[in-house]
Amino acid sequence: MTDGARATTRPGRTPREVATHCPYCALQCGMTLREEAGRVAVLPRQFPTNRGGLCQKGWTAAELLDHPERLTTPLLRDPDTGRLRPASWDAALDRIVAGIRAVQDGHGRDAVAVFGGGGLTNEKAYALGRFARVALRTRHIDYNGRFCMSSAAAAGMRAFGVDRGLPFPLADLGRADTLLLVGANPAETMPPLVRWLTEQRERGGRLIVVDPRVTATARQADLHLQPLPGTDLAVANALLHIALTEGWVDRDYVSARTTGFETVRRSVAGWWPARAEALSGVPVADLEATARALGTAERVIILTARGAEQHAKGVDTVTGFVNLALALGLPGRPGSGYGCLTGQGNGQGGREHGQKADQLPGYRRIDDPAAREHVAGVWGVPADELPGPGVPAYQLLDSLGTPAGPKALLVFGSNPVVSAPRAARVEGRLRDLDLLVVADLLLSETAALADVVLPTAEWAEEDGTMTNLEGRVLRRRALRPPPAGVRTDLAILAALTARLQAQGRAPSYRILHRKGPFLAPSPGRVGAVDGSDPRAVFEELRRASAGGIADYAGVSWERIDERDGVFWPCPAEDGPDTPRLFADRFATPDGRARFHPVEHRPAAEEVCAEYPLHFTTGRVLAQYQSGTQTRRVDALRRAAPDAFVELHPDLAARLGIGDGAPVRVISRRGELRAPARLSTAIRPDTVFAPFHWGGAARANSVTNDAVDPVSGMPEFKICAVRLERVDEP
Ligand code: SF4
Repeated sequence: MTDGARATTRPGRTPREVATHCPYCALQCGMTLREEAGRVAVLPRQFPTNRGGLCQKGWTAAELLDHPERLTTPLLRDPDTGRLRPASWDAALDRIVAGIRAVQDGHGRDAVAVFGGGGLTNEKAYALGRFARVALRTRHIDYNGRFCMSSAAAAGMRAFGVDRGLPFPLADLGRADTLLLVGANPAETMPPLVRWLTEQRERGGRLIVVDPRVTATARQADLHLQPLPGTDLAVANALLHIALTEGWVDRDYVSARTTGFETVRRSVAGWWPARAEALSGVPVADLEATARALGTAERVIILTARGAEQHAKGVDTVTGFVNLALALGLPGRPGSGYGCLTGQGNGQGGREHGQKADQLPGYRRIDDPAAREHVAGVWGVPADELPGPGVPAYQLLDSLGTPAGPKALLVFGSNPVVSAPRAARVEGRLRDLDLLVVADLLLSETAALADVVLPTAEWAEEDGTMTNLEGRVLRRRALRPPPAGVRTDLAILAALTARLQAQGRAPSYRILHRKGPFLAPSPGRVGAVDGSDPRAVFEELRRASAGGIADYAGVSWERIDERDGVFWPCPAEDGPDTPRLFADRFATPDGRARFHPVEHRPAAEEVCAEYPLHFTTGRVLAQYQSGTQTRRVDALRRAAPDAFVELHPDLAARLGIGDGAPVRVISRRGELRAPARLSTAIRPDTVFAPFHWGGAARANSVTNDAVDPVSGMPEFKICAVRLERVDEP
């Protein structure tokens, strides 16, 4: 039986329960799964982050386990009919390996690429990186987390020397005197987190929200700043300007714990509040009230999320708020700090262990010779045989099938046909491939294009670890095995590796057989050391991450089970973990945080006579990411059945559009069609659409593929569009 699971016996039935976490977002709410008479129910579970609460997505997560559309056999595209047809695992794996051989023989190792996801467990993310670098020996691997919070990650790395979403436990939010949320809407994206906001306000704290829309979170705020999309950086610089003018900068902290302040002080000198108001539309009085609430309170937390990050200047925008936090002396001060709300379920752990183009496990850089030596040593291969850095996600997707780009792609846990910017172009690139392989539990829009589809296990059918938005490593526990015909991602990677090795295409690296300081035998699992056992993979991950920024060496499954997770870095099993970072020093060589001067610049695409409106995207409460799973859950489909285009009634009146009328949103890259939804929650110069749907309602048909030059994050949150009523039937 899985750790954390228990079975009780009653006459005629054997209910089984397991303590695990929600499969969806980065809050990773604790839940109990109970199986009785073949039915699986979700029960609340007390856990420090959600305290028994779940949102509608969590409550209904088990519905997909026995969903009629679940994939239970591999599918191969028939060359005669062009259709996908059921196939055996042997036939599917043989087809993949033959395709990899043909592509690499003809075009070189880098002609095969791998695309992962921020929802994969740590073990899968790690194994995927190892598979790409060692079995395929390609430099081309990246993942959809690049679309999620890579800008905050890059800003955190350059300021603090480490990237952990929240460098403090979530509970600190409830004790903040002032809490500033920038581009975050947790009331819809992670509702149980709102309990902390409620607690904060009940203690007399002030909640200030910066968002172009009057979101469910903004409605709860004491003060809502509603800037024009793409102007958050001007707001940040103006807030720091006011703090300097009013003498709220913590000079002792700045001089003892940071470097580079003087250049930032000079750079914000010109950011008079009136200038920021002219650019962003946020009244000077609101900027001043916000600066005062931040500058005069004892415990202050500043959080950013996708609204601030998903821009071609996302790294600089986040840096603007990091500069503000450092100037006020927040990071490392008890009850205060800067943090980022991660989005995807394993958005944090997924970017720490090697599925990012420039990374090796433990948040090591792949171009660092010492890091390569360490990880190659764990993998049992020469360091000089590891490939170098690849390219960020959108650049990779946009190169597929081109003369210089990869000709084959293996996709795990991602649906870029819906989630990538300028999605019609990405869809075309995928169609140009010689070989597209997709591993998924349902036939996503991307899987529907594939040459080979591999059915994978769901979250309740596998063990592993996830790392939540606090950097807390958690245990995912299996309730039951996958259905017949379905394999875990780890088993798929192990089978592909074995085939490549048998054909002499991949070196032997069955390192999982080796006993090391961390690899204690796991009762009942000792036979499964071919790479498909998550416990064995995690033990190897610990070795590979040891000494890195994200050091998991001291994190054992037993230790996670004994407490409510383990916070990284945790270098020794008999040493402490790290719920709070930066108490004494930052993770930079000299221990000081870095200021960086950042200047506002316009969006990559500005409005004009032909495209006079701003377009922005986001989420709704009852759907998740590209909707592959949540669009198939009855209760969620009833709650949020279709896409929509949100626009202000004044704009609707000007264009002659009634509530519910079909409209077209058109950009230079494409269009989406959906019913209009009139709302005063949005600015009259901006329209919004959720990104959970494909087909004609695909928001990413419209979005801009301009990317941040540092993080590679696409500019999902702003582009120029025009809006038209659809008159034809
Ligand atoms: S808030 Fe996130 S983790 Fe919690 S139940 Fe909802 S989707 Fe799941």
